[in-house]
Amino acid sequence: MKLRIAIQKSGRLSEESLKLLKDCGIDINNSLNKLKAEANNFPLEIFFLRDDDIPQYVEDGVADIGIVGENVLLEKNKQVKTVNKLGFGKCRLSLALPKDKKYKSIKDINGLRIATSYSNILSSYLKKQKINAEIHEISGSVEIAPGIGLADAICDLVSSGSTLLTNGLKEVEVILKSEAVLISHKNLGKQKNEILDKLLFRIQSLKSARHNKYILLNAPDNKLDAICKILPGMKSPTILPLATKGWSSVHSVLQEDQFWEIIEKLKANGAQGILVVPIEKMIL
Ligand code: ATP
Ligand code: ZN
Repeated sequence: MKLRIAIQKSGRLSEESLKLLKDCGIDINNSLNKLKAEANNFPLEIFFLRDDDIPQYVEDGVADIGIVGENVLLEKNKQVKTVNKLGFGKCRLSLALPKDKKYKSIKDINGLRIATSYSNILSSYLKKQKINAEIHEISGSVEIAPGIGLADAICDLVSSGSTLLTNGLKEVEVILKSEAVLISHKNLGKQKNEILDKLLFRIQSLKSARHNKYILLNAPDNKLDAICKILPGMKSPTILPLATKGWSSVHSVLQEDQFWEIIEKLKANGAQGILVVPIEKMIL
């Protein structure tokens, strides 16, 4: 029994999707320009598809799981389960106007022609905001629509905003924030669910590792109590004596969001030679 995963063939999610599998220790046979590949050391088959098709394939059960942007998932509105957010492919779906057009509030969108590839998401957003506008669905190069007179505004994906800028547009509303997610077919069955659980366990340990750092520091023994109180750690810090008498080395794990605050307190409490190193995997 094998689990079949659909990932984007070539585009912004491809590299990170493959890297995720690789970081999970999954070794994939050289896959360039192929539709399908197999893992050597994990019961996984990989399908390379256009991202737009992935929700449908997973709903139909042609693929068991898939990696897509939340933007695509929401737009396609297929019957699939969202299993996990993956933390890459971050972008936002936004409304943008020519930069010299005045904009105070969403009301200024009333009556405009908006070009987008996301007509479902956009129309439900406009409905909620009680705005009447004309949606022009186009499949690509949305950002040039105002320049060629096809539309007055656009609704498109933005990450840095540089594409908008070079096309003389300004972002005026964020409709959706999106990142890549792992989706799954509604009923995988027992065996496939077991494989998925194995994969999820590995993904989880990567995600935990990404949010944590390993810290080592030296401190005089009389400061150890104070320092241990500052460090959260997985259980409690490890303390090892240094060759220099009266000094110890303290090892622990720090969460990224508390990082600077804790480092400052540690320094204030006599810690020296602080080293912070990335963690590759973390099994909780
Ligand atoms: P395909 O040929 O597979 O249909 P595509 O051109 O539709 O590819 P890409 O541009 O490769 O798709 O984007 C894939 C996904 O990457 C998007 O749906 C979105 O979730 C994410 N993404 C992240 N940042 C951006 C960005 N700045 N612009 C567009 N998509 C982005
Ligand atoms: Zn696409």
